[in-house]
Amino acid sequence: MDCRDAQFYLRLRRHATDELGPDVTGPLDDHLATCPACAANGRVIASFDRAVVRAMIAVPVPSGLRSQLLARVAEKRGADLRRKAYRAVAALAASVLFVGIAFGVFTNTRPKVDADALVQRADEQLSDPERSTREWLTAQKLPDRLPDEWGLDYYLVMHRGHEMINSEYVPVYVPVIVFRSSDPRDPTAFAKVYLFPNNGRFDLKNVQDAQASLTTARVVVGQGDLRGVTYVIVHTGGPHDGLKQFRRNLNGPGV
Ligand SMILES: [Zn+2]
Repeated sequence: MDCRDAQFYLRLRRHATDELGPDVTGPLDDHLATCPACAANGRVIASFDRAVVRAMIAVPVPSGLRSQLLARVAEKRGADLRRKAYRAVAALAASVLFVGIAFGVFTNTRPKVDADALVQRADEQLSDPERSTREWLTAQKLPDRLPDEWGLDYYLVMHRGHEMINSEYVPVYVPVIVFRSSDPRDPTAFAKVYLFPNNGRFDLKNVQDAQASLTTARVVVGQGDLRGVTYVIVHTGGPHDGLKQFRRNLNGPGV
């Protein structure tokens, strides 16, 4: 067998190992044993195919499926079946990935808008603001109340949600509860309570009270059953009386 035939059969063998008869594989192997160039070429082809097969079976598929398919193939043997199985595994993996991605995109980024659910939620908040806020806090895996020293009135809660905190790399969302003022003379006043869990996602080392011309920030590091959360309230007004209009019993004694 000459080099040209050897190269031809090398490529053919890679696709159909068992289909080449001994009248071909014998002379081919003889040639490979004596021709370093064709032998090297054969090794390259074989290692490439092994790498492709490795990559194909390394594609994640549902557990059990791959071994099931491969086990079935192992029983029957034969390169043709094996090749078909690898192809099936690869196609299956691709379709699993594709369906997974498509499903994720459609379910995660396109939530169904349900006005009934929205008014239901608003009703719950209005009918029992304190319980509603406690339940919301619990759902955020946070202690179910806010620091006592602020004496905040849950009936003044306007909004609960998440606010994006600027980060250099990825947006980080922090739970926030927004209070309106109980003072009708100050309709634009608000207080926002940010809840920072001490879970390592936030650097809370040097967080401290702050003051701007219109707003004040106060920090409370949770103690006791509030341990594990750093609370920051940002409210309109100054540090002395700014919080008054967000407290319970505005007209009561001692506030
Ligand atoms: Zn050769």
